[in-house]
Amino acid sequence: MKGAIIPCSPPVCHSMDWKKQLASAITSPAALLQQLALKPEQVGNGQAEQLFPLRVPQPYVDRMEPGNPDDPLFKQIWPADEEFRPTPGYTSDPLEEADSNPIPGLLHKYGTRVLTISAASCAINCRYCFRRHFNYQEQSYSESVWDKWLDYIAKNPEIDEVILSGGEPLLMSDNRLKRLSDKLAQLPQIKRLRIHSRLPLVIPLRITDELLETASQSPLQWILVWHINHPNEIDSQVAEAAQKCHQAGIRQFNQSVLLKGVNDNSDALCALSETLFAHHIQPYYLHLLDKVADTAHFDTALEAAEQLYQQMLARLSGYLIPKLVREIPGEHSKTPVYSSNC
Ligand SMILES: *Cc1c(COP(=O)(O)O)cnc(C)c1O
Ligand code: SF4
Repeated sequence: MKGAIIPCSPPVCHSMDWKKQLASAITSPAALLQQLALKPEQVGNGQAEQLFPLRVPQPYVDRMEPGNPDDPLFKQIWPADEEFRPTPGYTSDPLEEADSNPIPGLLHKYGTRVLTISAASCAINCRYCFRRHFNYQEQSYSESVWDKWLDYIAKNPEIDEVILSGGEPLLMSDNRLKRLSDKLAQLPQIKRLRIHSRLPLVIPLRITDELLETASQSPLQWILVWHINHPNEIDSQVAEAAQKCHQAGIRQFNQSVLLKGVNDNSDALCALSETLFAHHIQPYYLHLLDKVADTAHFDTALEAAEQLYQQMLARLSGYLIPKLVREIPGEHSKTPVYSSNC
């Protein structure tokens, strides 16, 4: 542990703005273990950072339980030795997205909506990420590409919604986001601007007054889809950020990934739905893991997933139930997995 750099530690980083919190994210496995009072004998020494770097901002670490090697937040970001275990059937582009990439940074898989890859990196590196092998370098992200997106959308009038995804779209500055939103609003066919982001969860200060102002003044309906997997991820700062979005008229949804050892139990999933709803966030999707190389240890068997889902159906109000889906290449939407006769 000697010589390890701890880039930012509480309470110093609590007084930083979101960009500084982002810049001082923890990237050293040793520093993280030290902060959480965990030992390499318990969790390995994080060598899988060679496959995909460790990256976790302090506000997210603050919600982890020190000394708990099974903490559901820690497990989402820790480079575990299991990642080195090759598993047949798990590949680097399981969604075959390379095929639905008409112009740089634009994915048009589903008729009425296009997905833009608007940033080349993330605030946090989630180990189960389906884009962990994505070649962002091949993509072009400067604002000059926006006109190409707009041309494409104008030529495809069935598109009425633009999704900003990533990477992490909210790494964009507020000014840039406003410019993009304004540009999209010039196309009369576009009704909604949807942002899929993990940044407001990881760094709640990302919900700035400027961003809220842009959203509330836009003629487009803004939608924020949070990516929250476990109720422990929601602390008072996250709740406050969601409250502000709600007040600004942003509609909020959540999608989760079913992750073995993280949230594959109905207590966690039911508590998650309840907590989301209490904070104006509507449960939307529960995704089965995509078959991405180095992530097999997070996968749950289909039967187990269906059983869990049945337990949720029995315990929760209908509107608290996310759709259980998976992504199958070539399909025109996410594919529902649950059949009521199972
Ligand atoms: C998931 C996804 C969407 C959005 O699908 P919804 O079912 O509307 O949430 C759009 N485009 C791509 C490429 C996607 O992967
Ligand atoms: S924030 Fe999303 S895109 Fe980024 S690493 Fe996590 S899961 Fe992947």
